[in-house]
Amino acid sequence: MSKKAHFTTYHHSCDVLCVGGGIVGLMAAIRAAEGGADVLVAEKSHVERSGSGGLGNDHFICYIPEVHGDYDRFINDVMKLQNGPRLRQMGPKWARHFFDQTAEIVRLWDSWGIPMKHNGEYYFSGHATPGRTRAFLKYKGRDQKPVLVKEAQKRGARILNRIMVYDLLKDKAGRLIGAVGVSARDYELHVFNAKAVILGTGHVGGVYPNKTVGSPAMRMIPRTLTADGRMMAFRAGACLCNLEMPNIHAGVKYFNRGGQATWTGVLRDPHGNPVGPYVDKPLHDYGDITIEVNKTIFNEYAETARGPVYMDFKGSTRQEIDDMRMWLSHEGNSTLVRHLDGEGVDLMTHAVEFESHGITLPLSSGIVFNEKAEATVPGLYAAGDEGYGGMAGAAVFGRIAGEEAAAYAKKQPEGELDQAAGQVKDCETLCTELLDRANGAHWTEANSALEQTMQDYCGYVRSKTMLDAGLTHLRRVRAHARKELAAENPHELMYCLGALNLYDLGELIFLLAEDRKESRANFKRGDYTMPDVRLDEKRHIIFRKDGQFVLEWR
Ligand SMILES: Cc1cc2nc3c(=O)[nH]c(=O)nc-3n(C[C@H](O)[C@H](O)[C@H](O)COP(=O)(O)OP(=O)(O)OC[C@H]3O[C@@H](n4cnc5c(N)ncnc54)[C@H](O)[C@@H]3O)c2cc1C
Repeated sequence: MSKKAHFTTYHHSCDVLCVGGGIVGLMAAIRAAEGGADVLVAEKSHVERSGSGGLGNDHFICYIPEVHGDYDRFINDVMKLQNGPRLRQMGPKWARHFFDQTAEIVRLWDSWGIPMKHNGEYYFSGHATPGRTRAFLKYKGRDQKPVLVKEAQKRGARILNRIMVYDLLKDKAGRLIGAVGVSARDYELHVFNAKAVILGTGHVGGVYPNKTVGSPAMRMIPRTLTADGRMMAFRAGACLCNLEMPNIHAGVKYFNRGGQATWTGVLRDPHGNPVGPYVDKPLHDYGDITIEVNKTIFNEYAETARGPVYMDFKGSTRQEIDDMRMWLSHEGNSTLVRHLDGEGVDLMTHAVEFESHGITLPLSSGIVFNEKAEATVPGLYAAGDEGYGGMAGAAVFGRIAGEEAAAYAKKQPEGELDQAAGQVKDCETLCTELLDRANGAHWTEANSALEQTMQDYCGYVRSKTMLDAGLTHLRRVRAHARKELAAENPHELMYCLGALNLYDLGELIFLLAEDRKESRANFKRGDYTMPDVRLDEKRHIIFRKDGQFVLEWR
């Protein structure tokens, strides 16, 4: 049966457009509106529960002067935590600029109604090394998003839910003047005239296979996070970085989910021996440090006939177990807690098996932005999981992006959108083609083909010959996807566009991986097994110039 999609076009005008209504988008909207800007937030899902922060978080890395005291010692110690490599890459000046502002956000959030204290006090626990500074504040973030939405609306920010922004618009002189998107519910095209654009589209899922294949809800990264911000920034000429560095997370087996949680038991092998040198009994303020130090340890145990590995809570009190479960439910893990209850698993007596999860992109990869949250295209800002993420990263740099974008917008004239008519038309044509195809491939098929290609050719160990073959294959499959993907309705259209973005991102990962001729951390090249120390703390940049890919180290 042949279909004919017809779009109704809606025009919107604002000073600052926030793409994505996650933590970045909402914090940016709040600050930009305080700065007098007319602000619009466009969110592809629904702001109340969307994104990685949608179901809650419970750790907020921060410096609270009255708790931590000596600032130099604090900075020195956090550089050694799991955030260390990211912070070192951004540099000590950047790290200080970031931590200078975390206490203010903590106080603001607490005053808005996100509980940042436990039993009336700042409580730091987990993701820390015994004897060193504890930098991760525990907070009750399950309902953080509805609170931030209310604060944004109170200041006059307008919110459009179920709109996927697809591309940035530029005028004939190359100035950024807005964006174009589509509704995820209706046959609607949305054209935004904006003086500044903030990208806060979050982390990226769907590039590598999820270790847990059963439930779409039990994914490391929410399904709606499909590199849209990174790819629209890239198409507009912005620099991206470090996409090829694999990140490997760890947690409960078959519950492949973002967030490390604060597991307070002891990891033990099948004979009851502790795994790792750090703890041999539950240590509640530090959680299990072994996962903090080495997230691939479960793979290593399995490969050397020492697995499986279990998180064992023997020696904990009922109160300690209840507290841990409470924090789990604030960290987007209420499904897991419900599952344990449903299966009658009492952590007082049952250990739970852990695993190293599959490959994801690292949090320090993505759009390059500076300490003012400026991307490398004037008028374009990015923050949070687009580059340097985590909850505190999203909150601090989202707020900075809002402030800077509002100030920038004040100095800009209104854009002439008719100069971007061609780009709007291109977006409409692509969407119409996807919707008009009577028979075609489903987006899940295209996405699985990408995940498999990435895993097989650009997986745990990489080499030039495999990367070259994989890139050729990816480009061939992408061409098929472009010709054959079909969307039944606007909701599937959103996922088809996301799948195409993921293919484009996959291509960049291959190019960067081939160009990184070394092995370091989880990035392993079979043909270059040594780290190249000259690249320490450098960022691996990719951008497009005159239609060509340019790769650099900075
Ligand atoms: C289960 C879980 C637990 C976690 N726990 C912690 C923790 O305790 N501490 C910590 O520091 N970090 C934690 N994290 C990470 C933390 O949640 C993220 O770093 C943070 O949410 C990043 O904020 P963001 O605004 O950059 O992205 P997100 O909060 O993910 O928001 C991105 C938003 O953009 C929207 N979007 C995407 N594409 C488009 C588009 N094209 N058009 C319009 N909208 C779009 C998405 O729908 C989403 O709402 C956790 C993550 C997960 C998944």
